[in-house]
Amino acid sequence: MAMRVLVIEDEQKMADLIKRGLEEEGMEVDTAYDGDTGSQAAKSGGHDLIVLDLGLPGRDGLDIARDLRSEGIKTPILILTAQDSTEMKVKGLDSGADDYLTKPFAFTELVARIRALLRRTQPEDTTRIQTGDLYLNLINRRASRAGIEVQLTGKEFALLEYFMRHPDEILSREVLSEKVWEETFDTLTNVIDVYINYLRNKIDRQFEPKLIHTIRGVGYMFKTPTVDSSIIVESKAS
Ligand code: CA
Repeated sequence: MAMRVLVIEDEQKMADLIKRGLEEEGMEVDTAYDGDTGSQAAKSGGHDLIVLDLGLPGRDGLDIARDLRSEGIKTPILILTAQDSTEMKVKGLDSGADDYLTKPFAFTELVARIRALLRRTQPEDTTRIQTGDLYLNLINRRASRAGIEVQLTGKEFALLEYFMRHPDEILSREVLSEKVWEETFDTLTNVIDVYINYLRNKIDRQFEPKLIHTIRGVGYMFKTPTVDSSIIVESKAS
């Protein structure tokens, strides 16, 4: 249920770093270290997005992008390269790529751009909802955070789904009891707190940032994680 990303990058350390980082965001990542392997992997399909370096042994990135588009493969492509001239950016985007990011880059910017591209290119997906690295699959009722599967009971799942559909809103216990339990509040006041506690143990306790926040005296809020741009990824090669 996670997004699958293909990283084509000949600088192996860089490729592995990106792979680890994206996996922490709950994505599945394949890597290819040269143009020919990368091109083949891209054509084999099954990827939701391709992160593409330009300077590669074998086929270069522009060639790969043009070739994929000429074969009608529409997988979104994000070019990630040290080549920062306007001319190169224009060439990159003209080759059929969807976005262009230059090295060195902030890892969080890469993630934000990947998410934006996925949002733009994926049809409205009613089978899966996502906040940060937390995913809920509404078909098979499975949940995962940071790529780790989380086992939820039916009620925990319903509660989490309600939270994820109402991010950054203060939700009172009254509202939660009506919407999730479909019962009046009086009978449930403790039950809700108990379930919130179960849910926190499963999706928040061993992860950062915390998503479920207590609003004292009022209820709870499911907070969308904020972007932290403190990690800069440096590269020597293109
Ligand atoms: Ca390179």
